[in-house]
Amino acid sequence: MHAPVPTAPEAPCRVGVVVEAPQHSGLWGALDYLHPQALPAGALVRVPLGRRVVTGVVWDRAESADEGAAQLTPESLKAVIETFDALPPLPPSWRKLVAFAASYYQRSLGEMALMVLPPELRQLDQVQLQRRLKRLDKAVAAELAEAIKSARHAGVEGVASVVSPSAEPCEGAGQTAAADPSALPELSAQQAEALARLAASPPQPSLLWGSTGSGKTEVYLREAQRVLDAGRQVLMMVPEINLTPQLEARVAARFAGRRIVSLHSGLTPAQRLRNWLMALRGQADVVLGTRLSVFTPLPRPGLIVVDEEHDPSYKQQDGARYSARDLAVYRGRLEGVPVLLGSATPSLETWFNALPTSEGGTGRYLRLAMPERIGGGAMPKVRLLDMSRAPKPGRGESAPPLSAPLLAAITERVERGEQSLVLLNRRGYAPVLQCGDCGWQSGCPHCSAWRVFHKVDRTLRCHHCGFTERVPRACPDCGNQDIQPVGRGTERLEEQLAEALPGARVGRIDADVTKHKGALEEQLASVHAGDVDVLVGTQMVAKGHDFRRITLVAAVNPDAALFASDFRAAERQFALLLQAAGRAGRDADVAGHSEMWVQTWHPLHPLYQALRDYDYEAFATRQLQERQSACLPPYASLALLRAEAKTQDAAGDFLRAAAEAVAHLASGVTLYPPVPTPVQRVADIERAQMMMESPQRPALQRLLTEAQPIWLALAQQHRRSGLVRWAVDVDPLSI
Ligand code: ADP
Ligand code: ZN
Ligand code: ZN
Repeated sequence: MHAPVPTAPEAPCRVGVVVEAPQHSGLWGALDYLHPQALPAGALVRVPLGRRVVTGVVWDRAESADEGAAQLTPESLKAVIETFDALPPLPPSWRKLVAFAASYYQRSLGEMALMVLPPELRQLDQVQLQRRLKRLDKAVAAELAEAIKSARHAGVEGVASVVSPSAEPCEGAGQTAAADPSALPELSAQQAEALARLAASPPQPSLLWGSTGSGKTEVYLREAQRVLDAGRQVLMMVPEINLTPQLEARVAARFAGRRIVSLHSGLTPAQRLRNWLMALRGQADVVLGTRLSVFTPLPRPGLIVVDEEHDPSYKQQDGARYSARDLAVYRGRLEGVPVLLGSATPSLETWFNALPTSEGGTGRYLRLAMPERIGGGAMPKVRLLDMSRAPKPGRGESAPPLSAPLLAAITERVERGEQSLVLLNRRGYAPVLQCGDCGWQSGCPHCSAWRVFHKVDRTLRCHHCGFTERVPRACPDCGNQDIQPVGRGTERLEEQLAEALPGARVGRIDADVTKHKGALEEQLASVHAGDVDVLVGTQMVAKGHDFRRITLVAAVNPDAALFASDFRAAERQFALLLQAAGRAGRDADVAGHSEMWVQTWHPLHPLYQALRDYDYEAFATRQLQERQSACLPPYASLALLRAEAKTQDAAGDFLRAAAEAVAHLASGVTLYPPVPTPVQRVADIERAQMMMESPQRPALQRLLTEAQPIWLALAQQHRRSGLVRWAVDVDPLSI
């Protein structure tokens, strides 16, 4: 007889946990904690960090070991406080995407991972989260019961599978009533061809290159339908929150019975958490969102759509400066799902990738062209108005807001009961106030920028730092009472148009009028209702809105972009003008006499010549040639090292030292001399940047990775001499 051998108490496991740690902490990977059992990678936990308790994500230790962190002995490790057992672990593909984004955009794993979780999630402990989940499940069940009830009324069979009832993957989820093909518009030939080519190709990125109004959204919806029918989830991204409600309405109408959630920064923290949880638990079928939604964990992904893929909003402009468009493409490959990039004016990067190798591109993406508008309507006729031929204003007179022929064309529209859209990409009344006597101008004391005159509340406002003051009654320098606005913003244009067009109802849409929640919707509704004859707006109105009665679009001051130092200025301007043109003549019966007017001093500029013919291809070809000869993207990869400091010297010193410190690592990478940024002082902080460029992306990535710890240490030293912040911007949008 043997006495049972007493088993040794099991040694607790070491688990790697990724927590949010500020960049300057130097912590890049996971921290080790102890827990009685092993925990699956992707599980959410709460752990002690210093004196706080924080939420973290369990990570594979092999994938995330932090070489910088001291190797602690088990005795000195702290224990995991609690685990969130009710939540499925974040999927492996989510961890891979986050890890890739962190390393590509040069941020710590912890910062990236925690940044992309709903902020509310990080506030909750296990009990609170469980309560939320219970509430969520109850709501979902109630919705299901409601759907069954109303379907019984409508006599639809087999509805129990219409709404996926649980977190279980709903393989072969039932057809919804709306999925009945007879309820769908018949596809145009080009839509049918695009879909057929998609169906015939393996999952890969595709560029859906279609004019505004060519029916791109319909193609997204058909692809989504196919994917939903296969029991999978769809992620659809749009550049701006303003555009999500429209798309949401359209998607909801199409996929009645499917659960559609949105994810953007306009939601309350509780709504955002709820929608994110529904996505993670497989309860949501379609996720609609802005750039942050690219990180939504999906247990059964089937399709990623990036609408208006060229839009700059897909790039985050602070913190982790990621490109959601580029990450979507990466994610598609990771998860083996197709990625549909849609645009009438693709970014040159995407265009280059969709260009076959025989035409000098990479041929990585499938290119699907849809040149024709639905219903056969033509794009508006482009009229380039040569301003150098316009009569000059007399002495002491300022130029009229619109040239005489344009004003006449708008008047004609007003008389016919049609609408016009006048585009000016500058808000406020006037960009600067000036004293006629001594030359004083309304500069911002804290920035190297003018303060803009806003007449509504008689303020001078800095659009960079927000510094706002009442307009002075007299010139602060010489006491002269006659200080005058110089130049024109949307507010002034609205006023001048109202004067020039007596009897016309003039409206305005820009960031100032739409500051308050619901204001944009209200303004848009009044345009749609026909309560506005002439709409003045910034680029905000050029995007996406489906105006039915606009037959004239005018760009009144678009030339600045032709000579901007930013190499992407022309590309952006072309996209904006073409998109604006797409607002006109959306109804076939008015398309025939729709016009796009451009007031320019350079009518022969290739940008306008390409616009006149709606020839994106010619424009892109020319741009690509210029980019190639200048070694710019997409032929080269760029990154910026940005520095902010108390003085311009301090910023420059840091950047010069940073360049010197890594010069020996920079083989294949050109380091350019540091320069002040275009607006070099904002809120009393000076900014400078150093550009790094390489024809080989991996060479640049290697340099950045090796440079990080060096720059981190260097920055610590330079703090004493006035360095405030520094960061790397990979694939910067503007330089
Ligand atoms: P895009 O996204 O390319 O601007 P949309 O998908 O919004 O174009 O389509 C423009 C308009 O044409 C919409 O009102 C849409 O409902 C309609 N439409 C799209 N496809 C078809 C079709 N095959 N038949 C009829 N109307 C269509
Ligand atoms: Zn003065
Ligand atoms: Zn300022």
